[in-house]
Amino acid sequence: MTRLVPSIDRIRNLGIIAHVDAGKTTLTERILLYTGRIHTAGDVHEGNTTTDCDPIEQTKGITIMAAAVTCDWRSHCIHLIDTPGHVDFTIEVERSLRVLDGAVCVLDAVAGVEPQTETVWRQADRHQVPRLCFVNKLDRPGADMERCLRGLRERLGARPIAITWPIWDDGGRLIGVVDVIEEKAWFWDDEDGMVCRAGPVPAQLFDNLRTLRELLVEACADEDSALLEVVVHGGEPSPAALRAALRQATIHGRAVPVLCGSAYHNRGVQPLLDAVVDYLPSPIDRAPVRDVEHDRARPPDRTAPLAALGFKVSFDAYGQMTFVRVYSGVLERGAQVTAVRSGRTFRVGRLVQLQANQRHDVDRLEAGEIGALLGAPLTTGETLAAPGHVIVLESIVAPEPMMRLAVEPKTKGDRERLALALSRMVAADPSLRLESDRDTGQSLLAGMGQLHLDIAVERLAREHGVDVITGRPLVAFRTTLGRTVQRELRHVKQSGGPGQYAHVVIEVGPASRGAGLIFEDRIRGGSIPRGYVAAVAAGVREAMSDGLCGGHPVVDVRVAVLDGSTHPNDSSELAFKIAGARAFRLAAEEAAPIVLEPIMLLEVTCPEDEVGAVIGDLGRRRAQVLGLDARGVDRIIRAEVPLAESFGYAGALSALTHGRGRFVLEPGRYEPIPVEARVRAIGA
Ligand code: GDP
Repeated sequence: MTRLVPSIDRIRNLGIIAHVDAGKTTLTERILLYTGRIHTAGDVHEGNTTTDCDPIEQTKGITIMAAAVTCDWRSHCIHLIDTPGHVDFTIEVERSLRVLDGAVCVLDAVAGVEPQTETVWRQADRHQVPRLCFVNKLDRPGADMERCLRGLRERLGARPIAITWPIWDDGGRLIGVVDVIEEKAWFWDDEDGMVCRAGPVPAQLFDNLRTLRELLVEACADEDSALLEVVVHGGEPSPAALRAALRQATIHGRAVPVLCGSAYHNRGVQPLLDAVVDYLPSPIDRAPVRDVEHDRARPPDRTAPLAALGFKVSFDAYGQMTFVRVYSGVLERGAQVTAVRSGRTFRVGRLVQLQANQRHDVDRLEAGEIGALLGAPLTTGETLAAPGHVIVLESIVAPEPMMRLAVEPKTKGDRERLALALSRMVAADPSLRLESDRDTGQSLLAGMGQLHLDIAVERLAREHGVDVITGRPLVAFRTTLGRTVQRELRHVKQSGGPGQYAHVVIEVGPASRGAGLIFEDRIRGGSIPRGYVAAVAAGVREAMSDGLCGGHPVVDVRVAVLDGSTHPNDSSELAFKIAGARAFRLAAEEAAPIVLEPIMLLEVTCPEDEVGAVIGDLGRRRAQVLGLDARGVDRIIRAEVPLAESFGYAGALSALTHGRGRFVLEPGRYEPIPVEARVRAIGA
């Protein structure tokens, strides 16, 4: 298909991020409706939305995979990704934020800033993605715009600037919004919100408008000295000047424009689309991508050589599809490109742009665009470059799994199909891993949590036609060291054939939580050459991932190579790698190893009369209650609970609260497991 490629400053690559249930999918559906992409909006209750097109998503009513859609607004091309809110699918949010230029963070006006709002906000901070906020569900009783703004300021450390404000009628119905920049109001008279009528600001909102304008003008004056001059001399800055200054503040993360409405009731969405165009960056407003190996930048320019990142892989009956973001140059059908990490050069086959589960063939994807490549066997995080102009873009890091589940096919004949299905699922989702039990040889599926693994098992049956029997969920424990130990080791093999000789003295000990491995070369006088020290480090890494105390990977240790010697003929990198691994294992066993377990942050929402029962049950689960807050008639209990004790919590909470309790679990940190619990959990 030939199509008009938008000029790069008219592209918006945009993610919608939020706590689960804030209304991302509903909002996406309305965006598609008002941009003319669809003619009737789907409903998450009916399971017919455009982005939740996966059967599992439709039956569960949640978004699991980030879906990509493209639409137009005011002659701008918006590539939009609806991301999942549940923390078990955090890799989807992570890789989407990696390739997006901006995000809309949706808040539930009643709940305000929620735990996963905080998680996705921090992820967006980490990727320096500029944001807008949409305060949704303002039609609901208990909706509180002020509290949402306070939450953004106090919990997320943002500078929120409200640029629309809700207008309710006397019966409490949301009928429109005040436009703070234009100082007028927008009203929606029709049910489906297609027509947005301008009108005067209702008199009872004059005071609000004055306060909101002061905050807006102050933020804009901080950005733009000419605008400051106007204000200092008592003038009124023009809407265009305010918009330009607010755009700069947003792009540089110094302010967050906040809009409001109700996606479900079709109110407030068009001003949000205007704000996407007015304030969120185009690809040329973002810092150019850098080559991680040579510290060179590549401009977001279609005339530069190709640089693109494969950020997601999926499979269907026709084979593999790799989602790509093109940063510079052009990815063109039929052209030769190099997959930099694998070192392979291949010819680009079919290229498509996506409308949720529909594909439209295109001939080229230019700098700034997002699309997908069919057929090529690429992995997540691969860089595509023009041959001869190689660049290595930062890859995508998957979080470490926290839970495992043994899986076995129900029928023996399915063994091969299971292996193929699992290998495809793992390629598509880097936060899912395939391991094997070192004692029984059984296949273990490792993932982020119970929901993640439950859905993986459901996918095996539905999409790959393989029914499996699963074991008890197992916690992914880790180990670290309690004290510092030195160890000398000689690895010598001189009987027949070429010999092996490596001699090392190493010191191992604890490092701070989250440090991973801190490796130091403390060799004096070159007793072992550099290359062999690197081989020792590789051996140590291998031994760490093999694990201690029954195979739990070792984390947060400091390892130093102090001394050693070589043999003129028999020393090699391999010999030093083996010596490093053996020395580490022996030293670590003497260094008072400690088993660590994942501790989750838990937030339970329940009616007041159930609080006692919920807290009593948490006590039996080794939980620590951190706080109890009120939100309207609900009570919010915040606690820390070991992951091992959280299995089956959904059913338990439902029974305790007669189905009225809700909860969110988020990964917190790793802590030493108490001895009694350790004996119960791992029998050692
Ligand atoms: P997501 O999990 O963030 O994608 O949220 P969904 O779009 O699936 O919506 C979660 C629930 O909130 C569904 O029951 C929606 O119908 C409902 N919802 C979404 N937007 C609104 C709104 O503006 N007002 C009200 N009252 N409900 C909404």
